[in-house]
Amino acid sequence: MPLVHLSDMINHASRHNYAVGAFGVNNLHFLKGIIQAAEERRAPVVLNMIESHFENHDFELLLPAVIAAARRTEVPVAINFDHGTSLASAERAIRAGCNGVMVDTSALLFSDNLWQTRDVVTKAHACGVTVEGELGYVPGVEGEDAKHHPGELTYTSAAEAAGFVERTGVDCLAVSIGTVHGRMKGVPKLDYARLAKIKEAVAVPLVIHGGTGLSDDQFRRLIANGVAKINYYTALADVANRRIKANIAGERKGGQNSPLSGVSDAVREEVERCIHLWGCSGRAAEVLAQCRLWHDAEHIVFYNVSETLSESEIATTLREGKRSLEAIPGVRSIRTSRASQHDGEYRYSLSIGLASKTALEILRNHPTYQRFANTNFWPMITDHIALDLEES
Ligand SMILES: [Zn+2]
Repeated sequence: MPLVHLSDMINHASRHNYAVGAFGVNNLHFLKGIIQAAEERRAPVVLNMIESHFENHDFELLLPAVIAAARRTEVPVAINFDHGTSLASAERAIRAGCNGVMVDTSALLFSDNLWQTRDVVTKAHACGVTVEGELGYVPGVEGEDAKHHPGELTYTSAAEAAGFVERTGVDCLAVSIGTVHGRMKGVPKLDYARLAKIKEAVAVPLVIHGGTGLSDDQFRRLIANGVAKINYYTALADVANRRIKANIAGERKGGQNSPLSGVSDAVREEVERCIHLWGCSGRAAEVLAQCRLWHDAEHIVFYNVSETLSESEIATTLREGKRSLEAIPGVRSIRTSRASQHDGEYRYSLSIGLASKTALEILRNHPTYQRFANTNFWPMITDHIALDLEES
């Protein structure tokens, strides 16, 4: 069950002068390649779910597979929601199973970026979820040619970074020191002196977006100057695309390959290269020993209802309750069940799956829950037993 707290993982990398890779997961082929690379190198890894990619896949369908892969492997994994557009999208990601979120408001004015990021921190931390902020602006879009999204690169200022981190409470900070998202022509010029100043000014680990196209030496210098997490996607898309093109060319010559055959191997090779270059190889055991494991939680009630109520009245109350409770931050699932035999002590159960133990507090104190419990649920119940459970 090596799903670990993302902040712990990045802090470990920061303390030991290496960088953990946050690799963009766009489909099952990428997922398989990234996990295999981490296993091969015995490395911690971040699976990065990028919101702008959600138009290509159904996030709520893909994420259960991502979680299953994280739980099945023996290397430590965190699941990060990247470049969210709003607090609502971050809440959706937490509900789906991400344990780190980044809402990108870096294109806004400093004060708007600060307030909006602070809102995300308040909500996400209440569920135990790590938050990454971004200050300065890294232009471009992951997986696309940077020249199509020129934007204006805005460098992060060390003085602003200190105030931003302190006032938002973010766990790590993405900085803009010369990289761009996507592919760019030539090698970017990076401002290491600025990076070192930012590192000195803030107490949290630093993150680089737009890792594609950087040289080995540039990566080493970024890490030496305090970068502890590197977001990486476009280069993976490029190796995957090359493999697909080769497969299709082979098919034209009469080969039997599927267009997607070998894509996960191509992704694995590139991820392994990065993991090794960034100093992450062989760190899995110490990360597992030193980082908190992520535990889901559950609130479950076994109960009986008044005999005066019909099955359809009970079903209506539960259906309406389910609809309203699902919107509470940190609630992941709601399941209502009825005993298949009649001789047990309780006939019904209501199970609320939660992102974490701390999300239970949000649930209990939430007006929607209190309204449902006090107005609809408890009045129809004659006797019950309630349990708060944490995954073990
Ligand atoms: Zn990014």
